[in-house]
Amino acid sequence: MLDSQGRTGSDGTHSAPPGPSTLPPTQTDACTIVADLHAHSTCSDGKFPAEDVLDHALECGLSAFALTDHDTFSGARRARQRLDARIADDPSCASMLLVPGLEISAQTEGKDVHLLVYWARDDDKRLDAMLREAQEGRDARTRACIELLDANGYRVSEEQVTSGGRRLNRTNIARQLVSQGDVPSIAWAFDNLMQPGCPCFVEHHDVDTCEAIELAVQAGGVPVVAHPAHYHVVDKIPMFVEAGLRGIEVYHPEQTDEQSAHLLEMAHRFGVLVTGGSDWHGDSVHKAKLGESGLTASRLEEFLAAQPHDN
Ligand SMILES: [Zn+2]
Repeated sequence: MLDSQGRTGSDGTHSAPPGPSTLPPTQTDACTIVADLHAHSTCSDGKFPAEDVLDHALECGLSAFALTDHDTFSGARRARQRLDARIADDPSCASMLLVPGLEISAQTEGKDVHLLVYWARDDDKRLDAMLREAQEGRDARTRACIELLDANGYRVSEEQVTSGGRRLNRTNIARQLVSQGDVPSIAWAFDNLMQPGCPCFVEHHDVDTCEAIELAVQAGGVPVVAHPAHYHVVDKIPMFVEAGLRGIEVYHPEQTDEQSAHLLEMAHRFGVLVTGGSDWHGDSVHKAKLGESGLTASRLEEFLAAQPHDN
């Protein structure tokens, strides 16, 4: 999220690596969140490797989980391998369902739109070509941003940003600037340097949202608009539904209860799925911890009923 728009509600401090002590209490009642369908790893702009994120989801006791890295299947693939290895060691790990997912960056009328796509075939050639183009665009944009930062007195190299296997993106630039002591927080770096109107902002052009929805559907996927209220694209939802949108991310840490209620009503009106997740990045990019935002058991059941049969 933050990589494309940089909106955060965070203080940017680095939290300790995930562990049981940071987890929400045991989930028992009907209103408890049992599924987190939105999270990131180092395969995009998350802080922790996909394997660690998967382990953390297991520690949280989730019934279902999706690792949804930006514009790549690699996080979902690595999470799958990790879960298979964990199940081989301990069959009880099979109680958590891993939903394959990714998050596509798109645009509509100049506005950023993020699409979560679940169950898409990861060998689909058209979708793969689109994801490659998105990655190349992000790489070029991030390099241009590094040059602008340099011109403004913020020295950071591509090697530093990508050290330790991190991807080249603006969130990792911000993390590097924080670690060098050049900026107080990730949020500060976006709000003062890399947002539209700021000295190091670089224009970008992503795939049209309706085109991305069509591509996701033809790849067997279930496209869901991510945090539409947070990104101010709620009014575009009817158009997206027309293009084949299958769901709305109703529950997200940056959306208020009122916004969630409105989105829930829209999901019912348009007959599309309700989804939710923490959008966890491993540090303070968003407010919620892993498993703190998402679906209850009954909503998860509705979501899982939408799984395409041929995937
Ligand atoms: Zn996300």
